[in-house]
Amino acid sequence: MKSVNKTKAIHGLVEEDERPLEDLVREMIPLLGEDPGREGLQRTPDRVAKALRFLTSGYRADISKIVNEALYSVKYDEMVIVKDIEFFSLCEHHMLPFFGKMHVAYLPRDKVIGLSKLPRIVDAFARRLQIQERLTQQVAQTIQDAIDPVGVGVICEARHLCMMMRGVEKQHSGAVTSAMLGGFRTCKETRDEFLSLVNHRVNGA
Ligand SMILES: [Zn+2]
Repeated sequence: MKSVNKTKAIHGLVEEDERPLEDLVREMIPLLGEDPGREGLQRTPDRVAKALRFLTSGYRADISKIVNEALYSVKYDEMVIVKDIEFFSLCEHHMLPFFGKMHVAYLPRDKVIGLSKLPRIVDAFARRLQIQERLTQQVAQTIQDAIDPVGVGVICEARHLCMMMRGVEKQHSGAVTSAMLGGFRTCKETRDEFLSLVNHRVNGA
């Protein structure tokens, strides 16, 4: 039942076959005080390994492919905003979920990105071991790098199960982070327009 760990590093990231993770979960169960042979738990290591692999699939996402297949040159200089993009991530400190919504906006210069790609960019960074601040920043920076807009704004509202379930700081389990680049950082008018569009929707929902 002990398997050889076939883990190997690819591009600095870890790519593995199905076995080792599953075996680690099986070894973990008795350490938690349970019997891994109990009927209900027999297939649990498989399921957990599969779930964890999916929840960290962002490491294997091809960001540049997601981005580059949906860039369009247009004459459009109004704010583009996509609100309420749902995401689910794992906090890197406890490997417990944090989840919520992201609001993404940018002011185009001469290119736009397909709207359906924004949730995919969010997923690609959310499905990793994360902290909310970095997740927010990475989404903003990816859009900045892809289309060089006048500015990018990202707001992320999330709840953290590591705080809620462990009973610590329950009142602070909801956190809001933001990343403002370019015109969203330097121009108060732009930032206010973004914030009012986001708040309008949040209050009206
Ligand atoms: Zn945590």
